Amino acid sequence: MAVKQFKAESKRLLDLMINSIYTHREIFMRELISNASDAIDKLYYRTLSDGDTGLNRDDFCIQIIPDKENRTLTITDNGCGMTKEELENNLGTIAKSGSLNFKKENEQKEDIEIIGQFGVGFYSAFMVSEKVTVISKPYGAEQANRWESSGTTGYTMEPCEKADHGTEIILKIKPNTDDNNYDEYLDSYTIRNLVKKYSDYIRYPIKMDVEKS
Ligand code: ADP
Ligand code: MG
Repeated sequence: MAVKQFKAESKRLLDLMINSIYTHREIFMRELISNASDAIDKLYYRTLSDGDTGLNRDDFCIQIIPDKENRTLTITDNGCGMTKEELENNLGTIAKSGSLNFKKENEQKEDIEIIGQFGVGFYSAFMVSEKVTVISKPYGAEQANRWESSGTTGYTMEPCEKADHGTEIILKIKPNTDDNNYDEYLDSYTIRNLVKKYSDYIRYPIKMDVEKS
């Protein structure tokens, strides 16, 4: 499959994320849950204005699925989803490249200040992931697509199957290093605390299957 290149500025932000010395990596959870919530908002308000679509407010939810065995953390929503073009444009481009200009002018500043100031959204997933897969199907569409990237080398895109509309973000969590414990992002107790800490204000249910042990 052909590997597509990120735009130059996306690549720089990715680099910043991947090699981040940022200690608050956990904010990726906040960013991904807020994106999921935004996507549900979009679909919810669209259905309100479109009249009877058969969708109810109660149908919407965000789900978190940790899988220790496969080292994946999956975050799904049944929101508006993205077309192939939207996957490509929204995940391959940095609209707010402010953080990059800021970085350039303030090389001596810590990443933490830059990230804190600008919020980096989706790309923060790369702070904890060696690979990120996004499977998405727009509401009302037949076709789903899979976007996948292991970082600055680029991304791939291919059609795939997905039963329901919405988006599934699959993070392949980085292996632990001497200095960094990434395992905690696969631990349901830690995840629950992160959700409480950062996403308490989210208006849709956030569900997680707890592993039986
Ligand atoms: P922001 O949320 O500030 O726009 P992000 O980097 O977090 O920036 O996300 C970039 C864009 O990708 C979003 O604006 C949205 O269009 C799209 N996106 C990200 N996650 C999802 C999702 N779960 N469902 C639908 N679209 C999404
Ligand atoms: Mg966002």
